[in-house]
Amino acid sequence: MKRWWLLLLLILLGGLFFAFDLQRFITLETLKNSRDELQQAYRTQPLRLIGYYASVYIIIAALSLPGAAMMTLAAGAIFGLWVGIPVAVISASIGATFAFWMSRYVFRDAVQQRFGERMVAINEGIQRDGAFYLFTLRLIPIFPFFMINLLMGLTAMQTGTFFWVSLLGMLAGTAIYVNAGTELGLLTSFSGTLSPGLIGSLALLAVFPWVARWGLEHVRMTRMSRMRGKNWTKPNRFERNLVVIGAGAAGLVTSYVAAAARARVTLIEANRMGGDCLNYGCVPSKALIRSAAFLRETRRARELGIAHAAVEYSFADIMARVRRVITTVEPHDSAQRYAELGVEVIHGKARVTSPWTVEVNGRSITTRAIVLATGSRPVIPSIPGLERVRYYTSDTIWSLTERPTRLVVLGAGPIGCELAQAFALLDCEVTLVANNGLLVREDADAVALIETALRMDGVRLLTQTNAVRCECEAGEQHLIVRHKDGAENSLPFDALLCAVGRTAHTEGFGLEELGIPVSKKGHIETDAWLQTLYPNVYACGDVAGPYQFTHVAGHQGWYASVNALFGSVKRFKVDYSVIPWTTFTHPELARVGLSEAEASRRGIKYEVTRYTLEDLDRAITDEAAFGFVKVLSPPGRDHIVGVTIVGDHASDLLAEFVLAMKHGIGLKKILGTIHTYPTWSEANKYAAGQWRSEHLPGRVLDWVEKYHAWRRG
Ligand SMILES: Cc1cc2nc3c(=O)[nH]c(=O)nc-3n(C[C@H](O)[C@H](O)[C@H](O)COP(=O)(O)OP(=O)(O)OC[C@H]3O[C@@H](n4cnc5c(N)ncnc54)[C@H](O)[C@@H]3O)c2cc1C
Repeated sequence: MKRWWLLLLLILLGGLFFAFDLQRFITLETLKNSRDELQQAYRTQPLRLIGYYASVYIIIAALSLPGAAMMTLAAGAIFGLWVGIPVAVISASIGATFAFWMSRYVFRDAVQQRFGERMVAINEGIQRDGAFYLFTLRLIPIFPFFMINLLMGLTAMQTGTFFWVSLLGMLAGTAIYVNAGTELGLLTSFSGTLSPGLIGSLALLAVFPWVARWGLEHVRMTRMSRMRGKNWTKPNRFERNLVVIGAGAAGLVTSYVAAAARARVTLIEANRMGGDCLNYGCVPSKALIRSAAFLRETRRARELGIAHAAVEYSFADIMARVRRVITTVEPHDSAQRYAELGVEVIHGKARVTSPWTVEVNGRSITTRAIVLATGSRPVIPSIPGLERVRYYTSDTIWSLTERPTRLVVLGAGPIGCELAQAFALLDCEVTLVANNGLLVREDADAVALIETALRMDGVRLLTQTNAVRCECEAGEQHLIVRHKDGAENSLPFDALLCAVGRTAHTEGFGLEELGIPVSKKGHIETDAWLQTLYPNVYACGDVAGPYQFTHVAGHQGWYASVNALFGSVKRFKVDYSVIPWTTFTHPELARVGLSEAEASRRGIKYEVTRYTLEDLDRAITDEAAFGFVKVLSPPGRDHIVGVTIVGDHASDLLAEFVLAMKHGIGLKKILGTIHTYPTWSEANKYAAGQWRSEHLPGRVLDWVEKYHAWRRG
């Protein structure tokens, strides 16, 4: 309420200013007419006049009223150049800081609520480069003074930074205006202060920070070279515009975009084209999950009495199908395809030898820019005795040809859950061991459904349980685990799958020698444009983080490519505002935007709209009527801030919400869109309908009811 009162007061004061036409006292004419009088007053009582002047200026700036520029002119006219400059610039900065505070106090929470996700990115940007931007904005007088104050108040910029950077940034412009004020007699119009020459010199001042940045980057390169004890010299000519290391999703998209932009690009892959996704990740895991689903469906058909024969299958055939699927998809990512697109593809292990050279197979390639897309690899947990047992990771599990009767899966993230369930359906006795819970990033109500499904498919779940050691006695392998309550348990197994996370692949290809820093989480440190410490060396995909998804790797690949090729002209910050993902268990768990837990953690107020799939006709016809669509929106508004879907086809259903969030489409518009009957996608419309029915305008309907009664007579 206090905020609203303050806003009301500000509007009232602004209204009075215009109602009484107080602006007439801050015109060039008034200033000219009263200049002699004001100068006389300044001569007799200098401090008092400075005090009056500063108060008026501060009020005008604080209330964002028109007249700030005229007040700066007045400083020159009354106090002269050397007193006028500090008095005007300090008054303007104090007033601006008041406006900044008020905007923060009145609007920031509302703005953060409404644009929560986007504001996170903006605030991060402000924390990193805010002072730099503010300085540039202050230098260019065509950006309205009051607007900068109000907008900056909505961000996370510190007040001290705002004040000092404003003061410094406005110094040049203020000096020019104050100087013009000293020549007041010669000035015929206010716009005369802004002659083309003046605008030109201010524009030059505005590009100064950018030139400074370029110079700093140059100095940084030279210093890094000296510090590393290398004598890197930037080649005069380059063989390539871009060298990309790693041909996974990130590297493939990067080189594809570069080739499409007619750049000379080399793509180097040490192992298999397509990287993890094609060879060890998404493709084989989804092929395995589908095979398991075929079996589940056949067994379900028996339960429903529409099929009678027992299901017979061979584990080896299932694994052979996985390999066949990889082979079928392989041409999409093949060296031949990329060569046809104009990419030079080299098979070999690359090593970065300077910020402009990459070595592979004994050849040194000079390049203007480098993109590191070296991906990630499975973490091998440090469990005593692990080296003595048969353990697998997501890289090696695909080589299985015989069914492991007893499989222990360590780790209950998406990979652990997906594979545990698939192997359970392939008649392995699966135990899933998790030191915490399952899918810890997701909301409890969604995870509960996945837990139930896993249990129903035969997975034994041991949560809050740690792996202690591995033992191998008389040919029998065991994993000793300890529950949080201290109880120990021995799990005999034929195969142990370690799925405890993936770590970025940052060693052994020259980063150490270049001194490119790696974050605490193990990713190559990059800025919002994916630049590393070296402005022409970029990183994207799993190696750069923060997400580990094929679609994010591809998304970043576009930015890495465009920024590496055109960054000196125009750079693009990676847009992480709407990132969807799915855990491909059965049922699937798909999410975009905030979960309830995240929203609460960030203090974002939200409402939950839930539609249960038990009511969906198509889900009933498919004998799959379980799960829900959950939408988070700001209280009373149909704007979507997060969606979690659990159910069959959840990954496909999510796409409509991803589109809606990306383009600011609300639930009312989804409700107003025709969805084919009977389809799964209707669930989205019904969720939107649910929101609508919870937000009906009750009072209006009361009147409508009266209207109908009146019409009936
Ligand atoms: C089991 C599993 C299931 C998954 N399922 C999904 C899913 O369903 N959906 C999803 O979005 N994501 C999924 N992922 C994650 C996805 O696979 C990764 O996010 C994606 O592959 C990352 O792509 P990338 O290009 O960054 O790295 P990678 O695909 O790992 O590619 C990096 C490449 O760089 C090469 N390389 C490394 N160093 C050098 C060097 N010095 N010289 C030359 N080449 C080098 C490597 O050989 C590798 O081929 C899954 C992962 C796993 C393990």
